[in-house]
Amino acid sequence: MLQDWSHQSVNNGFTTYPSIDTAAEAQAWKWLQGLDKNAVIHCYQHSYAIPSSHPNKMNANVWLQQYTTMSWQTFDEFLSWLYSGRLVTIPMMCSCKTNLKSYVCKHALGMMIHLGYYFVQDLS
Ligand SMILES: [Zn+2]
Repeated sequence: MLQDWSHQSVNNGFTTYPSIDTAAEAQAWKWLQGLDKNAVIHCYQHSYAIPSSHPNKMNANVWLQQYTTMSWQTFDEFLSWLYSGRLVTIPMMCSCKTNLKSYVCKHALGMMIHLGYYFVQDLS
């Protein structure tokens, strides 16, 4: 198995970017349509704080303040913060678990579309 992988990487090279299919584009586009653009906060350089869809979400200002101060007193407060917002760094980084597993998520791709860095390939 390792030998097959090794030979395949020699012939095809390593993947240096995530593959984005039409399903990911559609999911990002749908998420972007529901996003309150006024709730997005530009943090620094290419990073943005965005609210999540968590039912007890806090606004992005509070989320970002807690991100910088780490003022949680209990683990429950930390969890509430963790699921209340996302930190998206262009081009494709996000603090959600989907992105940590696959390097692509609706948040990062949606922000790329919103900022005009990515254009949807399938317009249907
Ligand atoms: Zn994400």
